Amino acid sequence: MTVKQQFQAESKRLLEMMIHSIYSNKEIFLRELISNASDAIDKIYYRALTDDSLMFNKDDYFIRIEADQANKTLKITDTGIGMTKEELENNLGVIAKSGSRAFKSENELKDGYDIIGQFGVGFYSAFMVADEVTVISKALGAETAYKWHSDGADGFTIEPAEKAEVGTEITLKIKENTEDEQYEEYLDEYRVQSIIKKYSDFIRYPIKMDVTTSRLKEGTEDEFEEVTEEQIINSMVPIWRKNRNELTDEDYENFYTEKHYGFDKPLAHAHISVDGAIRYNAILYIPEKMPFDFYTKEYEKGLELYSSGVLIMDKCAELLPDYYSFVKGMVDSEDLSLNISREILQQDRQLKAIARNIETRITNVLKSLLKDDREKYETFFEAFGRQLKFGIYNEYGANKDKLQDLLLFHSSNEKKLVSLDEYVERMPDEQKYIYYASGDSIDRIEKMPQTELVADKGYEIFYFTDEIDEFTIRMLMNYKEKEFRSVSSGDLGIETDDTDQTETDDQENKELFESMKEILASKVKDVRLSKRLRSHPVCIATEGEMSIEMEKILNSLPN
Ligand code: ADP
Ligand code: MG
Repeated sequence: MTVKQQFQAESKRLLEMMIHSIYSNKEIFLRELISNASDAIDKIYYRALTDDSLMFNKDDYFIRIEADQANKTLKITDTGIGMTKEELENNLGVIAKSGSRAFKSENELKDGYDIIGQFGVGFYSAFMVADEVTVISKALGAETAYKWHSDGADGFTIEPAEKAEVGTEITLKIKENTEDEQYEEYLDEYRVQSIIKKYSDFIRYPIKMDVTTSRLKEGTEDEFEEVTEEQIINSMVPIWRKNRNELTDEDYENFYTEKHYGFDKPLAHAHISVDGAIRYNAILYIPEKMPFDFYTKEYEKGLELYSSGVLIMDKCAELLPDYYSFVKGMVDSEDLSLNISREILQQDRQLKAIARNIETRITNVLKSLLKDDREKYETFFEAFGRQLKFGIYNEYGANKDKLQDLLLFHSSNEKKLVSLDEYVERMPDEQKYIYYASGDSIDRIEKMPQTELVADKGYEIFYFTDEIDEFTIRMLMNYKEKEFRSVSSGDLGIETDDTDQTETDDQENKELFESMKEILASKVKDVRLSKRLRSHPVCIATEGEMSIEMEKILNSLPN
């Protein structure tokens, strides 16, 4: 007797959600199963390329889809690497890797319906359309095949099975139509074909299926006959090898989703083909939203790396500088060896050249976005602008020239985000410095007495609300030969003509200032008459290098 095993708790919840899914875009289950099949063939291909004892004959590798109307089953067969008994247990009994990234909390699981559509949940999505799933698999090098079976959230069984060839065969028992849900369409030849075309066209291995067509009977002029023959449904050309002109924005968006690069829709993409001293194809994306783990240790930057069409690394970190760690996408190059190790990769000259090239491309994509689609750029900047600021601050400002024109800050001018260039362009001739004020919020900055004199002069002030802002511009020091100056600095460079008067006033109030200084002895260095105030009675100013805000931040850091 075979024992029923339980799903891991988290998986069970996800599974239940799939089973009762009210999610309308159920057709994506096929995309998920085909992409797993393709991954499995990739693995065997990769193995053969790096192991001389294995041969890979391309014709032997394919994915096959069979719809059986009579038995109401849809079968997906692949000639990939297969799964051992343990792998069946561990890989299918546990929440999908990509899925676990998507579902972190109980709440996200509850509200997750939208996530299903945008972000694959892998194998379990089969349960959106099937009430029984059977997987028969034979792993490369294994003697026996095994059968995994489940009819829902209460568990699964595994037992030995018959299967001659290495690979996996997944049979879905398609649910019966209900009053408000259609399932049987997934047994329809044309419907299935169109789903394959829509999501899996670029899969590099043939997806075969029997197709019935009506054609003229031989020897007759008006008699037709039905012919069923096996056809390859997908075009098999990976999107990055296609011509840009043939592709629509939707194609790129589909690829982004298919690849699980993110939940969102990308804001912009770049399709690059370089054929010169270095050769590579790449598709890069600027995401719209920050991934939820972006500022955690778990977040790994990197691009997918392919060597002549074979995936060799999921996240190649060497391809992206830290300040562009939000970029998603892939690179395919013929010039990289397949069995390259991570250590060698780090020193690989080709890879370094590609990385430099890619960095320039990303900078250009962002610059044109800023120029041509300000709204999109601001969405991007709200999500990832900090990353650019850190990029300037880090490495002693080595990258500031590349990044400074991508910065935006709030400013007193129309309360919009403003670039350094825009600020400098409209500076009056006599204005010496680029002024800024730091504070917790725009509201609070606007109430700062220190801003009064500068604002009175009609000069624009940058409002720094992000802790990193001031550190960033200190690293820049100046922009287009204009120095940055904090409004709380002692010298604002704003001329006043009644210096004598100040001195007399200072003398007259000497005693008052002395006693104030005594009272505030531990808090201030000096008390002076100020000319910068309008409606506020006092303000704090600094003389040294550091502004009050910076001191606050530095003091709050752990030692
Ligand atoms: P993901 O593909 O994101 O890892 P899935 O839920 O789609 O998550 O699949 C879980 C795991 O099951 C895969 O990582 C793979 O190890 C295994 N798997 C699924 N389908 C196949 C298959 N057709 N052949 C071999 N292994 C498979
Ligand atoms: Mg998968």
